[in-house]
Amino acid sequence: MGYTLGLKRSCLTSEEIERRLADAGVHATAQRIAIARYVLCEADHPTADQVKSWADKNFPKMSMATVYNTLKILVAAGLLKKIAFPHLNEAVYDDNITAHYHLIDEKTGRMSDLDPADFKVTANLKGVRIKEIEIFIKGRRELS
Ligand SMILES: [Zn+2]
Repeated sequence: MGYTLGLKRSCLTSEEIERRLADAGVHATAQRIAIARYVLCEADHPTADQVKSWADKNFPKMSMATVYNTLKILVAAGLLKKIAFPHLNEAVYDDNITAHYHLIDEKTGRMSDLDPADFKVTANLKGVRIKEIEIFIKGRRELS
């Protein structure tokens, strides 16, 4: 059985986010916690621009540089994963930091997580040490 969109969210409380940031040696400002909560609990594979659009409604004076910087801090603290996809000009920020693949809905462009346990991936590449495999599949989920 694969992942279902929204099933496995790592939605942390503000206190947990604060602790994780402190563990990473980062001061947990209200803005950082708010951005972390948005990306971890509400957004779904957002781009930095999408985070900025959200921030504009909640923190009207937040600059794009602050959004980028905060996302970078959250990635460095291990709360988010930054992924570059060939079909997008921008990277997306993923709250699922475990190894997983992605399904891109061919109609909506919406991205959802796929469980690597549903795949059998083999590679026979002599002289290549594989660090990570990214798979994205274009298609549609059938209603069941
Ligand atoms: Zn994902």
